[in-house]
Amino acid sequence: MEEIICQGCGAKIQTEDPNEVGYAPASALNREDITCKRCFRLRHYNEVQDVSLTDDDFLRMLNEIGQSDALIVNIVDIFDFNGSFIPGLPRFTGNNPILLVGNKADLLPKSTNPNKIKQWMRKEAKDLGLKVQDVFLISAKKGMGIEEVKEGMEDLGRGRDVYVVGATNTGKSTFINYLIQDTTGEKEAITTSYFPGTTLGFIDIPLDDQASLYDTPGVINRYQMAHYISEQDLKTITPKKEIKARVYQLNEQQTLYFGGLARLDIEKGNNGSYVCYFSNELMIHRTKTEKADQLYADHVGDMLSPPNNETLQHLPELKPKTFHIKEKSDIVFSGLGWVTVTEGNTTVTAYIPDGVRVSVRKALI
Ligand code: GDP
Repeated sequence: MEEIICQGCGAKIQTEDPNEVGYAPASALNREDITCKRCFRLRHYNEVQDVSLTDDDFLRMLNEIGQSDALIVNIVDIFDFNGSFIPGLPRFTGNNPILLVGNKADLLPKSTNPNKIKQWMRKEAKDLGLKVQDVFLISAKKGMGIEEVKEGMEDLGRGRDVYVVGATNTGKSTFINYLIQDTTGEKEAITTSYFPGTTLGFIDIPLDDQASLYDTPGVINRYQMAHYISEQDLKTITPKKEIKARVYQLNEQQTLYFGGLARLDIEKGNNGSYVCYFSNELMIHRTKTEKADQLYADHVGDMLSPPNNETLQHLPELKPKTFHIKEKSDIVFSGLGWVTVTEGNTTVTAYIPDGVRVSVRKALI
């Protein structure tokens, strides 16, 4: 096939994989003005569709952004900070300012203090080497907090291009679609100015007369829980509405299973409260630690599910990590949820599929 370039974003057109950059159905190749499906949707329906990038293209994308005078808006999923982090971003952003936007705030219990979340996001970013100019908490789905982001974009974006970057599944498309509907209304949103010589699939969305917003393809982060589990399981573990805290009083040598995807053993510490924040649909089972391995061997995939059978075929083994807790803290299972350990002087061991992160932070709630 001779090389065909999308007239919208400059990506090389391919007809094989609908989830990757430059996809167009074969039937579209007969048109005069060929665009990829993602640009087609934006042009005709004012809507962006998420596509993902592979590593090499992704590094080139970051390079491109780093070399321009740009404002970077980095969307992360607050339920999966590490899984939504873009490796390499700190190295490639140059001196460009970064706005860190935490999405899916609608899922947090009402009692959550937004400022604490923002502080935590800032710290996580810093630990990962990312210096951010400002932090926002939004719900792209509900339109919460987006006005503030827009103001931040106007303040820092003046005269600059704005690039929205995010790992897949963080809600980047939902965010951009909200902006498009909000800003352009019925107007045809897309322009056809692409980056000559690149095949990166940036889509240019004029927000007003001065500024362009670029939608970049989503980046796949291999540490996301989402990569290890089936679509059906992903639905179960993804919270759909405000999370309800579930509280357990646990003694030493007791264990909680979160479906069969994660586990928490209480090694030391007496009769403390353990407050669990997970999708309301994810079952939590309590057992004695001495019986926990056998329970898992006998019941993973049925009583302890997800994982379902499809997930089990690829799921890495659960790996333990021990934490000594001095003050009220959260044990965070990346992409799944967290448990607040309310008492200091407690030792717990947390298990999660190898490759997914489990970490500790000061309690958010
Ligand atoms: P992308 O891959 O980053 O473009 O992410 P999408 O926009 O496709 O969103 C990924 C998933 O997160 C979808 O199931 C969305 O419905 C969901 N989602 C996006 N934004 C929000 C939000 O603000 N709140 C909640 N609860 N879910 C969201």
